[in-house]
Amino acid sequence: MTPQHPQHLDDVLSLIKDAMADGAALAIVGHGSKSDWGYPVAEARPVVLDRLSGVIDYQPEELILTVRAGTAMTEINKALAKQNQMLGFEPPDLGELYGANNPSSNKGSIGGVLATNLSGSRRLTAGAARDFLLGFEAASGRGERFRSGGKVVKNVTGYDLSKLICGSFGTLAIMDEITLKTLPKPEATKSLIFPADDLAAAGKHIAAILATPHEPSAAAILPADMAAKAGYDMAKMLVVIRLEGFAISVNARADALLALYAGGDEIDDKASQSLWQLITNTVLLADSQGDIWKVSCPATAAPAIIQGLKDILPKDLPLRYYADWAGGLLWLDLPSQVTPADVAYGARLRQILADHGGGFAQLIRDSNITRQYLPAFQPLADAQFGLHKRIKAAFDPMRVLNPGRMHHDI
Ligand SMILES: Cc1cc2nc3c(=O)[nH]c(=O)nc-3n(C[C@H](O)[C@H](O)[C@H](O)COP(=O)(O)OP(=O)(O)OC[C@H]3O[C@@H](n4cnc5c(N)ncnc54)[C@H](O)[C@@H]3O)c2cc1C
Repeated sequence: MTPQHPQHLDDVLSLIKDAMADGAALAIVGHGSKSDWGYPVAEARPVVLDRLSGVIDYQPEELILTVRAGTAMTEINKALAKQNQMLGFEPPDLGELYGANNPSSNKGSIGGVLATNLSGSRRLTAGAARDFLLGFEAASGRGERFRSGGKVVKNVTGYDLSKLICGSFGTLAIMDEITLKTLPKPEATKSLIFPADDLAAAGKHIAAILATPHEPSAAAILPADMAAKAGYDMAKMLVVIRLEGFAISVNARADALLALYAGGDEIDDKASQSLWQLITNTVLLADSQGDIWKVSCPATAAPAIIQGLKDILPKDLPLRYYADWAGGLLWLDLPSQVTPADVAYGARLRQILADHGGGFAQLIRDSNITRQYLPAFQPLADAQFGLHKRIKAAFDPMRVLNPGRMHHDI
């Protein structure tokens, strides 16, 4: 089927109305770099949103950027860089993870970033993509044009649909005009590294630092093998703390933390930036031969979850992983499930998560094998599933938009 490239929201509305009339479905992509996330939308008319593109309005003094959803991330980053500003939620550059030679690998669109709620290491303190979406205009699966939010931080009457649309993977509505909150880039960045005996000690160390008034913007934990990959030879664990802001403040906070906690060391702006790119962009696991899992869990549960996985892996297969968001985000490298008889490490992972306070395990990269045996997205509890179905029905009763993209039957 020839992909449609709508130029305006009116074109999108007509495509939706035609699909409703024909009882057809639409497969919605921005630039298609995340087509591997979740499930392909079968037997659907492909709609590519790359021509819903361009900066509509940028008021750096108001920290407001209005763009069209198909605008490439490279174009947005260029516009922001000119004004020394950034997207506070630090959308990760997943180029290495998906391999430049992967045909669908490109820089992606802002619509794709928001629809997947893709957020980097500063999510720990600044918030996720959904917290920076001030407003948008979109077309629902009913073929209705609607607006939510606006151009100021608190401009929402009724349900905050901006929060709902982020992470909905194009299953509820197709965004066009988007207004984002921007932030000034920090004048200085510095990172502190501390050794730790194990994951639990590393987590406690970070919790203690987060309880001080020194406001790290990000905190990660690298086991020795990951630290070595980043160029830091550590016996056991490496705690990485990022400080951002005015230079005088960053230096004072760094000095205070290094005085408070022995054994620490600081790395300068340049080294700090490259270390965080390895962490935020999941480059540390890009060479994995197995499956990449993204797990959100209570930070205090991370040690038990990791130990649970180590207990089920063959002794000659050490677990490759690291933690971001102060331990609340685990990036895992697990063996693929190639045949039904193979150990379903993904299912075991979800059981271990359920046994330790719950969480979300998303299959991020698996060369389309493991997902044949288990859901790529964390399965929903019955009540949640029912709510999701009813919300979907409210936005898209005929399941025109990306049916089955996230969960079968939704
Ligand atoms: C600087 C930078 C560089 C990057 N480089 C790479 C890279 O090289 N390779 C890589 O893989 N990733 C890269 N990324 C990450 C990439 O931008 C994100 O993964 C982004 O989510 C993908 O956008 P896309 O348009 O390709 O998404 P798609 O794969 O097209 O869509 C993802 C999901 O969002 C939905 N969606 C898309 N647009 C809309 C819309 N307008 N309304 C509603 N739903 C929508 C789709 O239906 C789909 O479910 C980079 C990010 C940044 C910030």
